[in-house]
Amino acid sequence: MEDKKDIKSYNYIELEQEMKAMGEKAFRAKQIYQWLHKERVKSFDEMTNLSKALREKLSENFMINTLEQVDVLISKIDGTRKYLFRIQGGSIIESVFMKYHHGNSVCISTQSGCRMGCKFCASTLNGLERNLTPSDLLEQIYRIEEDTGEKVSNIVLMGSGEPMDNFDNVVKFLGMITDEYGKNLSQRNITVSTCGLVPKIRELADMKLQITLALSLHASDDETRKELMPIANKYTIDEVLDACRYYFDQTGRRITFEYSLVAGVNDTVEEAQKLANLVKRINCHVNLIPVNPIKERDFVQSENKAVQAFKSRLEKNKINATIRREMGRDINGACGQLRNEVMKKGEEVRNV
Ligand code: SAH
Repeated sequence: MEDKKDIKSYNYIELEQEMKAMGEKAFRAKQIYQWLHKERVKSFDEMTNLSKALREKLSENFMINTLEQVDVLISKIDGTRKYLFRIQGGSIIESVFMKYHHGNSVCISTQSGCRMGCKFCASTLNGLERNLTPSDLLEQIYRIEEDTGEKVSNIVLMGSGEPMDNFDNVVKFLGMITDEYGKNLSQRNITVSTCGLVPKIRELADMKLQITLALSLHASDDETRKELMPIANKYTIDEVLDACRYYFDQTGRRITFEYSLVAGVNDTVEEAQKLANLVKRINCHVNLIPVNPIKERDFVQSENKAVQAFKSRLEKNKINATIRREMGRDINGACGQLRNEVMKKGEEVRNV
């Protein structure tokens, strides 16, 4: 990182304080915020309603963080676009743009790498590199809107990384992307997915935001969950579900449970019934994800028949369940796989 301060990570209130500290009028904050988050300029010189002296002062003290687009893979099947961006420090992250009939959705990464260690996940193979800053999070959306020329209407924090392990930056990002002087996105169009850091789920609940919480459950008993997710050694399923109930009580938002189906591990009808018993009294929706095998591990995707049977059993128990539609099948490695390949190859990647 440069020594200069990352101005795009300052929320509106912080910018106002900064302006006052610089002996400037508070309303300059609104102007600067709009230049950065509405107009999305790349230099202080473009902020034409500021005096030249102020622009110079700003560029002496601040930098404007942008992500460098390294590559984009476009699905011939459904137009899904997988982006690789280079962040400050040289590391590469992935973001995905998906077109649905209800609008355009972007899946963003919250960390470069991850330290949660879920066994089936490619993002965690090399551990955590660094937390993404608020500007890194915002930029994934800004760059994609610029590249596609389309508006993004839904955001899911379901890419690489654990959002609750980068809590402060993620919360700040949520405030900024919904700020009326910026993109002004509705909280209801945002989903945050977590492997289940219980105290952080409760902290988020207390903020009473209208975002959707997606909880990666993946098992209906603690022993199986421990086999798949190290975090299960820290928090039991009971504790995680209590936190989900608390989230619903505080926000009124229906919980999404994610359940990746792995053949021979968690995909029998008996397990579907156990899952149904667990979540029956929670206002929820279950999203089934046939596991996307990664070459570093020998997990096998459940057969279609098993997936359908699992879903039917949930529905028999009056639990709303969907099977995640695979988007961009032709460009899809499992989450984080593409990034890993590119990082290994170093600079060989195409520049576009
Ligand atoms: N750290 C967050 C976001 C991770 S990715 C979380 O754990 O929720 C979003 C979802 O994809 C999670 O449910 C995650 O467990 C799941 N996932 C990761 N790799 C997968 C794979 N190879 N196959 C199927 N699901 C996977």
